[in-house]
Amino acid sequence: MKISKTLLTIAACAGLALSTAACGGGGDAGGNPGEGGKVTIGIKFDQPGLGLKEGSNYTGFDVEVARYVAKDLGYTDVTFTEAPSAQRETLLQSDQVKMIFATYSITDDRKQKVSFGGPYFIAGQDLLVKADNADITGPDALNGKKLCSVAGSTSAKKIKDNFASAVQLQEYDTYSKCVEALNSGSIDAVTTDNVILAGFAAQPQYQGKLKVVGKPFSEERYGVGIKKGDTDLCTKINTSIEKMIQDGSWQKALDSTVGPSGFKPDATKNPPKPEACS
Ligand code: GLU
Repeated sequence: MKISKTLLTIAACAGLALSTAACGGGGDAGGNPGEGGKVTIGIKFDQPGLGLKEGSNYTGFDVEVARYVAKDLGYTDVTFTEAPSAQRETLLQSDQVKMIFATYSITDDRKQKVSFGGPYFIAGQDLLVKADNADITGPDALNGKKLCSVAGSTSAKKIKDNFASAVQLQEYDTYSKCVEALNSGSIDAVTTDNVILAGFAAQPQYQGKLKVVGKPFSEERYGVGIKKGDTDLCTKINTSIEKMIQDGSWQKALDSTVGPSGFKPDATKNPPKPEACS
C-alpha cells in the first residue's frame, strides 16, 4: 500500500509537541510595526514577577514591558505564547512569535541566530538554596552538590563552562520544576538570575523555606528577541523602551511586579540604556 507523503508528514508533525517550521509552523506572528493588528509575543509562563500565566491572566515585568512596547508600536491585539528558555531562538526563526520578552539575555552566541532590542533590565546569576543552608555560600562552594538549572539558559552554560568538574548539574525545562525539586530536597541548589530566584522565594508556598544567596556572578542583559537582522523593528523597540523609562512607566511596572518580592535591582546598572541596533 502506498501512503502519501502528505499523510506521513501530517502524522509525523502531529506527534511533535511543538510545531516547527518544517511542519508548517512558520506563521502569523504579526505584521510590521505601525500596521496595527495582531502580534504574537513569547514570554515565560512560570516565573513569578517576570512572566506568569494564571488562568487567562498574564503578569510580570516582562509582560508589562511587552504590553507597553507592543502598544507603542501600534499593535492592537497581543497574544502571549510560552517561550521556554531552550525554544526561544527556534520560535523567532520559524516566525511563531514576533518578539520575545522572557528574561532573555543578550549574548554573542544567540546573536548568531536572532537579534535583540534593549536591554531593558540587567540582572545577575545567583543561587537559590534552602533557608537553613549554611554551606552553599557562592558558586565556588558547589563541590559535589546537585545543582538544577534550565536547558538552553546562560545559567546552565556558565556552570558547564566554569564549574563542570565539581558540580552535578541537572537540567530541567523550566525553573519552576527546579524550585519544586529544591523544596522537596532532591537537589541542593537552583541557579539562574537573581531576580527570577527572588520571585520564586517570595511565593507563599516557599516563604521562609528558601533563600537567594545574594552574590551575583554574571551580568544578564535582558533583551527583546526578534528575527535576525530586523534592524527596523529593533530601532523602534529601543525608542519605545527609552520612552517607557523616561515617562516613568518602566519604574512603575518594576515596582508593581518585581517590587513585592523585595528584590532590589542593581541601581548602578538599571535602568539600562538600549544598545545600538545592528
Ligand atoms: N537570563 C538567562 C538566559 O537568558 C537565564 C534566564 C532564562 O533562562 O530565561 O538564559
